[in-house]
Amino acid sequence: MSAGDRVGVAIIGAGVVGLAIAAELSRDRTVAVLERHGGYGRETSSHNSGVLHAGIYYSHDWLKTTLCVEGNRLLYAWADEHSVRVRRTGKLIIAQDEDQLAALEELLSAARENEVPGLELLSQRQVASLEPSIEAVAAISSRSTGVIDQMELMRSLESVAAANGASVAYKHDVRHLERSGVGFELDVRDPQGGEMRLASSVLVNSAGLAADRLADALGYDIDGEPRMRQTVNKGRYYDIVTPEKAARLQRLIYPLPHADRSGLGTHVTLDIDGGVHLGPDTEWLDESASLDYRADDVRREEFLAEARQFLPWLEAEDLMPGQVGYRTKLSGPGEPARDFLIWEDGGYVHLGGIESPGMTASLAIAGRVRELLG
Ligand SMILES: Cc1cc2nc3c(=O)[nH]c(=O)nc-3n(C[C@H](O)[C@H](O)[C@H](O)COP(=O)(O)OP(=O)(O)OC[C@H]3O[C@@H](n4cnc5c(N)ncnc54)[C@H](O)[C@@H]3O)c2cc1C
Repeated sequence: MSAGDRVGVAIIGAGVVGLAIAAELSRDRTVAVLERHGGYGRETSSHNSGVLHAGIYYSHDWLKTTLCVEGNRLLYAWADEHSVRVRRTGKLIIAQDEDQLAALEELLSAARENEVPGLELLSQRQVASLEPSIEAVAAISSRSTGVIDQMELMRSLESVAAANGASVAYKHDVRHLERSGVGFELDVRDPQGGEMRLASSVLVNSAGLAADRLADALGYDIDGEPRMRQTVNKGRYYDIVTPEKAARLQRLIYPLPHADRSGLGTHVTLDIDGGVHLGPDTEWLDESASLDYRADDVRREEFLAEARQFLPWLEAEDLMPGQVGYRTKLSGPGEPARDFLIWEDGGYVHLGGIESPGMTASLAIAGRVRELLG
């Protein structure tokens, strides 16, 4: 990008959502993506579980639900078309004792109401034949859940956007935003540390953890309506590193979610390369907390105790601290979970609270942004 450039659409953020929007809108508009890091997906989009979620847990009337169910289908098709590695691992949500059966059935009927395809209630015998090493009395099987290579996905989105003529400018940090008579002016720090001004007709704020700060810079009251203020919630993983034990698990295994749906409990995920992980856990952070992506080892005992409820053979030495990610939420501690915010106002599109299943929903979110822009 050079100073004085004017584009149809400026997108802030080259995470999976910003890139999906760029691939979509660049089909018929001039698009520039501005990203402060030296490559795509350096924040949340590369520090997640890589799961293609099915849409089981969210309220029926939420955008999150519709976009997750639609995004799941679109991403499998995209992965096939663009040679992105994907595995239809399937997932089990398990009841660990008879007392949990009613809650399991309730979750199944809520998920069916969400029109999630490929769901089935499995008996103890059926669970044992699929996953002989876990302790469960019944399970919901979700066949549309899988895992994807997030970096390859972003590479494919970036290359489709670029082939459509979009420019993706790395090391371009958006410092200030203003509305002008005909659109928006963006003050950007370039890779050499200089400042430049760019103009766009449409502005898409897909800045993940920083989306609320940028909306504030544009003059919105982020505590007003719609509420844009975001909170940060840390998620840590532990990896199961004993190969023989990791090999016992063939699919994603989740306990029932917490009653208030505040978290999914310690669960097992597989990654595209065959790694097996526990987590992520949840920890609220202050707004001012710095985001440190280094692994720490402060929760081994808690992870072990929770996982041993259904993996009784797991030992402390089977675990190593894994990656860390930071969820972007619109709800705070003790508040009910909130839907995604995808909101348009006179050419400005705000993407707020794009936590999980944001990666799964990314292509569907892009479609939604196109609809909003008309
Ligand atoms: C622990 C964890 C596990 C998850 N697991 C899953 C999962 O299994 N499946 C799933 O579907 N989803 C999952 N998610 C959610 C998913 O990762 C996110 O919804 C998705 O990555 C959000 O993408 P994004 O593009 O909105 O944000 P990001 O990836 O954070 O991208 C935003 C980009 O904006 C850039 N930016 C910010 N400010 C500026 C600025 N001023 N100038 C220029 N650039 C800027 C940032 O550098 C960043 O690259 C998980 C999230 C977490 C934290």
